[in-house]
Amino acid sequence: MKNSAEVVIIGGGISGCSTAYNLAKKGVKNIVVLEKNYICSGSTGRCGAGVRMQWGTEMNCKIAKKSIEFYEHANEILEYDRDVEFKQSGYLLIADNEKEIEQFKKNIVVQHECGIPSSLLTPEEAKKIVPYLNTDMLKGAAYCSKDGFLNPFKTTDAFYRAAKRLGVKFNTFTEVTGIIKEKGRVTGVETNKGVIHTNIVVNATNAYSKSICDMIGLGIPVYSERHQILVTEPVEPMQEPMVMSFGLNLYVQQSPEGSFIMGRGDNSEPRDLRITSSWHFAEEMAKTIDAVLPPISKLRVVRQWAGLYNMTPDKQPIYDKAENVEGFYLAVGFSGHGFMFGPITGVAMSEMILGEKPTVDVSMLNLDRFRTGNLILEPSVV
Ligand SMILES: Cc1cc2nc3c(=O)[nH]c(=O)nc-3n(C[C@H](O)[C@H](O)[C@H](O)COP(=O)(O)OP(=O)(O)OC[C@H]3O[C@@H](n4cnc5c(N)ncnc54)[C@H](O)[C@@H]3O)c2cc1C
Repeated sequence: MKNSAEVVIIGGGISGCSTAYNLAKKGVKNIVVLEKNYICSGSTGRCGAGVRMQWGTEMNCKIAKKSIEFYEHANEILEYDRDVEFKQSGYLLIADNEKEIEQFKKNIVVQHECGIPSSLLTPEEAKKIVPYLNTDMLKGAAYCSKDGFLNPFKTTDAFYRAAKRLGVKFNTFTEVTGIIKEKGRVTGVETNKGVIHTNIVVNATNAYSKSICDMIGLGIPVYSERHQILVTEPVEPMQEPMVMSFGLNLYVQQSPEGSFIMGRGDNSEPRDLRITSSWHFAEEMAKTIDAVLPPISKLRVVRQWAGLYNMTPDKQPIYDKAENVEGFYLAVGFSGHGFMFGPITGVAMSEMILGEKPTVDVSMLNLDRFRTGNLILEPSVV
């Protein structure tokens, strides 16, 4: 392992790999990524892999639109000789009450201003897109055909390989155990394999972000929360878009192989680092899906797993640097949308580190908002 680096990135998920790639592409030499397990072993490799432009704030619409536009050309841009398997099969956001419909209308105004081709649908129009949808409970839906999903392992692998070709060194099974600071600035990181001297550290550890910040005495208001997901046996094509409900905290998508992948949020989930699965999830998932897409509830479950959301008070990420410790950067707190923001996370962090003009203004995602109370009011978040 190298004993010095210009930049050390902690975390080998989509955020860390995208940041490494963007910095290297801009000519930064001697970048080291430290990952305590293997690449994509964290939340990225456990996620639902959905990407959507349908957000309610201008900033999130812009981040998501730019990220999805990147994903449209990811194979070419990252010179990936495999395939990130991007499918733009759309997102159908369903609403079972008028309040949500009113919110969708407001969101669509913002989305159109950002050039996002979304539209409001009646229950009948929604049923034409997803024929098995139970419209009894439906008041309407919002739809965008540009939304979709892609393979999180292959996408991270594409960033990883592109970064490696540009000279980034990846140290897997290397755990950061401490951060060295002198006179108010970062000077190195301690790992289970030795020390690396550096003046720039990026914390891209998602669920573990708080413990890394604690190493420099920076308190951040985040916690980690378990989220569960399951996959069914494959069946014939039944559903094109991701169906999502903010009210029911549900998402469900049919993969190209025919399996259904579905998850739901639950306030009773533990807020710690547990990633065991529960019967409770399987039971509640079955009830929820039966109410929304009845035939799907008859399918057999093949696998079930869990992963971690890293939550901030407004469920929006932190892209910032520490105020009192020079050289310490954060790309954390992604809740359930860090995969879809991945391309812009790397762009934004590289611009922040290099002092460049931002591609998308992400200054609202600062740490100070939790102190001043300027939280981001994003209505479309799970
Ligand atoms: C069930 C589920 C479904 C989801 N669905 C979606 C979705 O559909 N769309 C979407 O956009 N997002 C989704 N998400 C959220 C998404 O997975 C995350 O926001 C995103 O993957 C975060 O990426 P990351 O690179 O920041 O973190 P991670 O992928 O978690 O990577 C962080 C890495 O840091 C490493 N690390 C931690 N501590 C240390 C240390 N001390 N030293 C070295 N390495 C360390 C970890 O091992 C890990 O590999 C979902 C999440 C879950 C759990």
